[in-house]
Amino acid sequence: MPIAPPPEELLDQPSMELMDLFGRMRSLTDDGGFGGTLPALWQCSDESQGIKKALFGYVYNCPVFNLGRVGALLDPTRLLPASHHGRDLVILGGSHLGAREEDGVGTVERVHGRMAPCCGMLYRMLEEYLLVYRRAASLITLFRGVGGLKIELPYKYLFRKPLGSTVRIHVRWQRLVDGEALRDSSHGKIYHLHRDFIARHEQALSDLGTEPRSIGELLDPDIFSFSKQLDLESLDTKALLEASVFDFLPDIVTSQRPHRRLADVNTWREFHRLAAYLTDSFDSGERNILVIAGLTLDHSIRRNTFVPQFGFWMEQGRALQARYFGPPEIRALLDEQPVWRPEQSFLEYAGVE
Ligand SMILES: [Zn+2]
Repeated sequence: MPIAPPPEELLDQPSMELMDLFGRMRSLTDDGGFGGTLPALWQCSDESQGIKKALFGYVYNCPVFNLGRVGALLDPTRLLPASHHGRDLVILGGSHLGAREEDGVGTVERVHGRMAPCCGMLYRMLEEYLLVYRRAASLITLFRGVGGLKIELPYKYLFRKPLGSTVRIHVRWQRLVDGEALRDSSHGKIYHLHRDFIARHEQALSDLGTEPRSIGELLDPDIFSFSKQLDLESLDTKALLEASVFDFLPDIVTSQRPHRRLADVNTWREFHRLAAYLTDSFDSGERNILVIAGLTLDHSIRRNTFVPQFGFWMEQGRALQARYFGPPEIRALLDEQPVWRPEQSFLEYAGVE
């Protein structure tokens, strides 16, 4: 993989309460001399993101401009109209995840009382890949035979298949097997396990016995890839999302927390798309722009907390001097700021007497 997303541990920072986050952002932008500030947001259209959007507008005393769509994909064509609605821009964005994780999937309780995957859009895209990966990890087996460690590869993972509209996994069996097949089994072939693979997983294989055991998590991104005919022309959100994260799916499905990993990879991709767009389109203007991207954790459909992961800071349209912040840096920058609090109540802000 030429470009890998930041490691999971780096992105897994403590989360902040929303009014803390927005109050600190407000102090930062006030300090930076922001004026006529339009708050803008790219996030999923899920109802669990609604209160967050409202509070962000409350702290900036201006209702929020929408730059996103379902699945937290950025729509850069909306940046131009946004730029006509304010002088300076403060942009918040990223994916969301139900804070209660079950078997690697974030869930939230919906208004009718049922638990459901959240972000549902990300989960729908991920599900097929997860299934194909988990099936392979369970059907490929290892065991200790006469003369050393062996692997049984079912035929379905040995034959090369053409690109299709469904997800396929390509196991790089050359990295798993040593030499020619030793014999046929009922649904595949038995080989010596590759010596490099044995060396790499010495510890995990030390207690392998004569009883076949699924390869499980040892089926790592080095020894498989996915294939699928992607529809690159489609404007459908699932297709857009899939095309955007496709190269990273082996990394995502092998994570202990695949749903969260997908959310983070999606945020990372969209943040850099946005930053590239801002530096190209707003260079040499007069604008100040702050972008904070990260993971929203949905504790309920009303209550969220936020993990800041990326930051972008551009002063007076000087794109070449724009500053980028990674997870620990953006957190440190926010922590240095006092928490600004609105003087008016939320109803006063909303124009309700
Ligand atoms: Zn969502």
